[in-house]
Amino acid sequence: SDLFLGKRYESTVAESSASSSPPAEKFEYQAEVSRLMDLIVNSLYSNKEVFLRELISNASDALDKLRFLSVTEPDLMKDAIDFDIRIQADKDNGIITITDTGIGMTKQELVDCLGTIAQSGTAKFLKSLKDSKGAGGDNNLIGQFGVGFYSAFLVADRVVVSTKSPRSDKQYVWEGEVNASSYTISEETDQEKLIPRGTRLTLHLKRDDKGFAHPERIEKLVKNYSQFVSFPIYTWQEKG
Ligand code: ADP
Ligand code: MG
Repeated sequence: SDLFLGKRYESTVAESSASSSPPAEKFEYQAEVSRLMDLIVNSLYSNKEVFLRELISNASDALDKLRFLSVTEPDLMKDAIDFDIRIQADKDNGIITITDTGIGMTKQELVDCLGTIAQSGTAKFLKSLKDSKGAGGDNNLIGQFGVGFYSAFLVADRVVVSTKSPRSDKQYVWEGEVNASSYTISEETDQEKLIPRGTRLTLHLKRDDKGFAHPERIEKLVKNYSQFVSFPIYTWQEKG
């Protein structure tokens, strides 16, 4: 049904006119991120399904990180919540939601992690890209290095990341669109979307990629790609 989208739109309009909730802040991507996004979106890379492997591996990393840090900072785990990853498929609306109960991100971490490229894997990728010549080089490189979080844009034209770090008392929402040079961050104001800890990624799939929002397809990908993840992964279908 279109109810979800309709409701979203209404709440956005209401928020911008209400003075109680702070407006969304706009941020420009670091130039390297824009390059990477361009590449992801314009490449003819056909193995789009790797997005799920990348996003599950981030969820798993976030859970590992929480477990590791809580050894010295037990307060991080003061909320007794299971360590798991949940993948929800809404095939009617073409939406996939991936939720973890890991370390989450503060507002600053959102800017640092999802607006810039700091880590070595992706930096190496961009370097190889510069060195590679000829058609098809780009496509092989995407598969070889993996492009992490940004691989969400292989299949989604809008990505929403709602995240709650145990180090912050607020939950923040990062929103990015394909082919955009900027993203926004705002406070989560929707009571229904509040989570005690962790990160929820919502992928609004491109028209041609809505077929990924089927639980059977997701289960198959999870089996193929993520069998060695050490946390439970639950998948289910959103009721229409
Ligand atoms: P990498 O995983 O190689 O660091 P990614 O592009 O996949 O690169 O992710 C970038 C960063 O964004 C991660 O290092 C992490 O800090 C942050 N991040 C991504 N997904 C999550 C998540 N589900 N929970 C917490 N942090 C995340
Ligand atoms: Mg990653």
